Amino acid sequence: MRFLLILLVLAGVFSLQGQENGYWQQHVDYQMDVTVDVDDFTFSGTQKLTYTNNSPETLKRVFYHMYFNAFQPGSEMDMRLQQIEDPDRRMVTDGESRIADLKPDEIGYMRATSLLQDSKAVSYQLEGTILEVELAEPIPAGGSTQLDMTFEGQVPLQIRRSGRNNREGVALSMSQWYPKMAEYDFEGWHAHPYIAREFHGVWGDFDVKLTIDKRYVVGGTGYLQNPQEIGHGYQAPGTKVPRVKGKTLTWHFKAPNVHDFMWAADPDYIHDTLEMENGPDLHFFYKNKEEIIDNWKKLQPKTAEAMTFFNKNVGPYPYKQYSVIQGGDGGMEYAMSTLVTGERSFNSLVGVMVHELAHSWFQHVLATNESKHAWMDEGFTSFISSLCMNSIMDQQNENPFAGSYDGYYRLVGSGKEQPQTTHSDRYEYNAAYGASAYSKGAVFLAQLGYVIGQDKLMQTLREYYRLFQFKHPTPNDIIRTAEKLTDLHLGWYLMDWTQTTNTIDYGIKEVTGNEESTQIVLERIGLMPMPQDILVVYEDGSRETFYAPLRMMRGEKGNPYPAISRTVLPDWPWAMPTYTFTVNKPLSNVRAILLDPSQLMADINPDNNLWQRP
Ligand SMILES: [Zn+2]
Repeated sequence: MRFLLILLVLAGVFSLQGQENGYWQQHVDYQMDVTVDVDDFTFSGTQKLTYTNNSPETLKRVFYHMYFNAFQPGSEMDMRLQQIEDPDRRMVTDGESRIADLKPDEIGYMRATSLLQDSKAVSYQLEGTILEVELAEPIPAGGSTQLDMTFEGQVPLQIRRSGRNNREGVALSMSQWYPKMAEYDFEGWHAHPYIAREFHGVWGDFDVKLTIDKRYVVGGTGYLQNPQEIGHGYQAPGTKVPRVKGKTLTWHFKAPNVHDFMWAADPDYIHDTLEMENGPDLHFFYKNKEEIIDNWKKLQPKTAEAMTFFNKNVGPYPYKQYSVIQGGDGGMEYAMSTLVTGERSFNSLVGVMVHELAHSWFQHVLATNESKHAWMDEGFTSFISSLCMNSIMDQQNENPFAGSYDGYYRLVGSGKEQPQTTHSDRYEYNAAYGASAYSKGAVFLAQLGYVIGQDKLMQTLREYYRLFQFKHPTPNDIIRTAEKLTDLHLGWYLMDWTQTTNTIDYGIKEVTGNEESTQIVLERIGLMPMPQDILVVYEDGSRETFYAPLRMMRGEKGNPYPAISRTVLPDWPWAMPTYTFTVNKPLSNVRAILLDPSQLMADINPDNNLWQRP
């Protein structure tokens, strides 16, 4: 029996207060000029960084991420890879770390060769993937400073996310490739060593000049400023681009208000563009390989459909451009762009595009700290991309989130679950990280829809996007947004779901009755509280629902099944292990009783949720 009803009613306009007082984040503007040698994959450049201290303190030190140093034998990333029981399969060969095998001309590195603060030398020290900098002059609260760095690097063989010569033959996947200022915000410094995952950056404007072999086609974050010099599909349609005499071209990109900058380059990229009506320009870069071209052409209108879906259901995409680029080692989101592997079935290609595009909202505009709250970007992305796939791929899944629920149930069953408050790098198992961030994170939202109502959930998402865009929202921000919209108390939901491994198990304990009425006894077996929707089906096929609100919510959700009459019962206080209510129909008339007909409550034992006439 399935009685799933999911009603996604789009949001109205609500005005709510933004983040609580005490919030701040830094600001950094980058100007970079970089030259890449495509023969040995080394590069060097200059970086002019204007840093604004929005914190209430004077800063004496700053920290840069130098990510490419992770790809060296003996690095923290290498050691972690050697120790974890279930290493990422992309990073090992026959179970052995691929990083440990890298030769000097295959490793990655990133070094500062000089660093000045407002023309004064500063002392700095490289510690693995972090450059620790003692400033020459402290930056007072509200002050700004300029940091001028020269740097050199080597692009590692593709091991994870970025690198050269990925397995599909893309020459350069350049993510986390430049000296990147670590974020200091209201929660402190986030100078996380690069061990596996993931990222947290400082908002700012990027101005990047990239000099590279003129045969290479470049795509990535940012708007190209000199398309008529570059060509390669960027020039105005029907125009000619003058021939270049030298061996290189200098590409000039600008990206306003982003917290990351990625680019990729290959001499064999096909570059297609699709101009959306009332939307950004979409760019596609993929290898000129016969067997993938058809899929990559069909992907383009699907990308426009997905963009439209997210614009409508979450909020307007704020940039003028988005690029889907073949590269990397799976799928990874970047500002205004994604790197995805491209030799996939059409469904898989659309699936990965939809997921990574959704991250434009849930990471590149709502920039949650991925190390601390991975479930807020991966989980929310999984949630909204499941809805999008259902809509644009004609999938008639009754429950589009079924895969996420199954992933969560398997995690609980494995006994390896850790709370979602665990730092992304410090899960004991990669699989537990994955299920916690993606599956349990998606269930957080889908199940919140059960708790507050689907219409209120979608309003919450839109309001959350409106209030916290271009910031670093925290778990409290999403739940406070929901609370203010619904006037329900939801702190219990955030705490039990994200800070503990408490589970939900409610059941139908006993059904008794006579010719007048039927008594139903429910029980709470798991520790986590939940309100209860109960469906009663009678012998004549008619149906009725009952709602046992959770006392600590201090209120009730609307009727999720408006076509069926609902009785709101007295509150169920959490500490009471059982709960009894009466249905005014003879027991002989009751055919079945079902807890949570939507199946959106993540009850780890469904067997006791259904009672059927024996
Ligand atoms: Zn993701």
